[in-house]
Amino acid sequence: MSIHDCSDDAARSADSAFSGRSAPRTVVMKFGGTSVKDLERIRIVAEKVRKERAKGQRVAVVVSAMSGVTNQMVDYCRTLNAQADPAEYDAVVASGEQVTSGLLAIALGALGVPARSFQGWQIPLLTDEMHGCAAIENVDGTALRQCMDQGIVPVIAGFQGVDAKGRIATLGRGGSDTSAVALAAAIKADQCDIYTDVDGIYTTDPRIVKQARRLEQITYEEMLELASVGAKVLQTRSVGLAMREKVHVRVLSSFVETDENSGTIVVDEDESVEKKLVTGIAYSMDDAKITIRQVPDEPGIAARIFEPLSAAGLNVDMIVQSIGADRSTNMTFTVSKGDEDRACQILEEMRPEIGYGDLNTSKNVAKISVVGVGMRSNTGVATTMFRTLAEKGINLQVISTSEIKISVLIDAEYMELAMRALHTAYGLDAAEGAGA
Ligand code: ADP
Ligand code: ASP
Ligand code: MG
Repeated sequence: MSIHDCSDDAARSADSAFSGRSAPRTVVMKFGGTSVKDLERIRIVAEKVRKERAKGQRVAVVVSAMSGVTNQMVDYCRTLNAQADPAEYDAVVASGEQVTSGLLAIALGALGVPARSFQGWQIPLLTDEMHGCAAIENVDGTALRQCMDQGIVPVIAGFQGVDAKGRIATLGRGGSDTSAVALAAAIKADQCDIYTDVDGIYTTDPRIVKQARRLEQITYEEMLELASVGAKVLQTRSVGLAMREKVHVRVLSSFVETDENSGTIVVDEDESVEKKLVTGIAYSMDDAKITIRQVPDEPGIAARIFEPLSAAGLNVDMIVQSIGADRSTNMTFTVSKGDEDRACQILEEMRPEIGYGDLNTSKNVAKISVVGVGMRSNTGVATTMFRTLAEKGINLQVISTSEIKISVLIDAEYMELAMRALHTAYGLDAAEGAGA
């Protein structure tokens, strides 16, 4: 991704070095849905922005839609047509952020802080044409920098951009985090503060495990893994982008008073001081399990099954193959719940050619993952996971591992029990409950 270089910022810091004054810090403040859920919350956010700016910092703000609004928009589109035109879907679902950006600019004005709203196309934040989960291709920081140069706070609608054809495109659910990081990179911000409804990144979702503990810091890589296996506190893409563009990301609460030490910072591995075996645990209920039985046990069979799925753009995640006695095998794998019908359709079309027996699916599964860079140099993490779940009588349906992560698929009804047991087993419990 190319992000416009802000050459006059560079010139300014050179000037100030010459004059002996340091350039003002530039901070991006991003507020999620619950932080702007009604007018009262928007007033509180405006006050937070006013205070940050009063410290002499240049501030750019990114906002999500008021909580619930994007879901409502998605429902509207699906009710009219389950196969709605993706570009029109984006025109509808991006509207929530347009409303909040205008409202926050108005609230800032009421506090005497000059502010103006920006939609994705006004920046412009250019995306590809993958409507519904578009990727950012370029962000021009010029208009935002000019705005801040004039003492005006730009309030940017997150989640949205514009494609090469001039159509509005959205960045996937949770995409305002990615907008914030991309904008922070484009304007070379010193910091990208992600304000949300929890006061940082926890060892696991504090809404599920009361003993979850806030982390002072987490590495980009660990956060990337945790986000990709379900920790929605940051959108996965935002973490990858922050890692590549070296954006300093911090997660903190918009519901409490904060200072420079609040929240959790995301750091490079070599800056990390907390060396733990397991840093965090995440869950996802977004997977569906597909099993095909009596698959002929012969070379090339996995390629013949998975190639058509990948050609259709379906992402197969966990895979397990069990060998039967009769020269046949059973193949179990997961796809996202939204892709299950399409995957089954493709597999049914392939049945005559491959000659497998029956096909079963289940949505009643949860994926539990433990993540930590310490796993690279230590064995035993997997054993602890298997023993802990076995002691609770929880059956492991599929297992998959990567360098710093182990995931297991279990029956959905045991998700909370498994999360709590593992959290304790890895010594992650806080002394007292997180009280979320
Ligand atoms: P926002 O609307 O501000 O973008 P999100 O709902 O997208 O907020 O993300 C915040 C939520 O992420 C929290 O309320 C929490 O339930 C959930 N979450 C999941 N895993 C974690 C974790 N490891 N640490 C903190 N929050 C987590
Ligand atoms: N409003 C969008 C969503 O609900 C984007 C975001 O909140 O980050 O997914
Ligand atoms: Mg979010």
